[in-house]
Amino acid sequence: EFVRRPLIAGNWKMNMDHVQGITLLQKLEWTLDDAKHDFKRVEVAVFPPFTDLRGVQTLVAGDDLDVVYGAQDLSPFDEGAYTGDISGQFLSRLGCSYVLVGHSERRSIHGESNEVVASKLAAALKHSLTPILCVGEGLEVRQSGEHVAFTVQQLRESLEGYPASAAEKLVVAYEPVWAIGTGEVAGPEDAQEMASALRAELVELFGEAAGESVRVLYGGSVKAANAAALMQEKDVDGLLVGGASLDAGEFANIVRFEK
Ligand code: PEP
Repeated sequence: EFVRRPLIAGNWKMNMDHVQGITLLQKLEWTLDDAKHDFKRVEVAVFPPFTDLRGVQTLVAGDDLDVVYGAQDLSPFDEGAYTGDISGQFLSRLGCSYVLVGHSERRSIHGESNEVVASKLAAALKHSLTPILCVGEGLEVRQSGEHVAFTVQQLRESLEGYPASAAEKLVVAYEPVWAIGTGEVAGPEDAQEMASALRAELVELFGEAAGESVRVLYGGSVKAANAAALMQEKDVDGLLVGGASLDAGEFANIVRFEK
């Protein structure tokens, strides 16, 4: 039995325009309904591009879908002269439950520091969005053997100023950069090593009860074929899936990792 409700999250990245996105989400819901998936047991969330969110909201509300959704990023600010950015307030009004914060592609392509990530976490909380904080080391750090210390420090710095009162709301995703989109999946024992170290740090920061209630996901080249083994690990509470979430059948099989 799971101590924490598993979350399987699909990060579509910059794929699927607003028409393709609706088709994918409909197909996913049909597939899971056909398989009689128990959404209360295993939660399912998708992260489409911003331009898809209005359509996703309409579909989810109109057809009463069980899949929940969120955005891939948000601005630390509420509104104003921030050309090209999207506020947490807008996302919340579009019915988003979640928001990814500090994904490695935001950190590397857009230069987001831990400090920026911390300000985005605050914005997410302010607008009642559950943040999925992404952390993880690159290949050089992994090869140096410093991956645990590096990732734990990234977690600590990203959580600077994060209120203990909101700790139970937090979701953390461990995504080793060398495993993202490379086909190179971390072994279940590597995922467990990091998930348990991250949880120990969360317990230190927020106390036993809160630390034990935070869901820690693994992400990086997850497929249906490796999902069950990863989910077997004690501190791995879910999966953040990139490439494989673009195929409804494959993603549904990841969601149904127990079958
Ligand atoms: C991701 O970007 O969050 C991710 C895990 O990608 P992929 O599954 O394609 O490695």
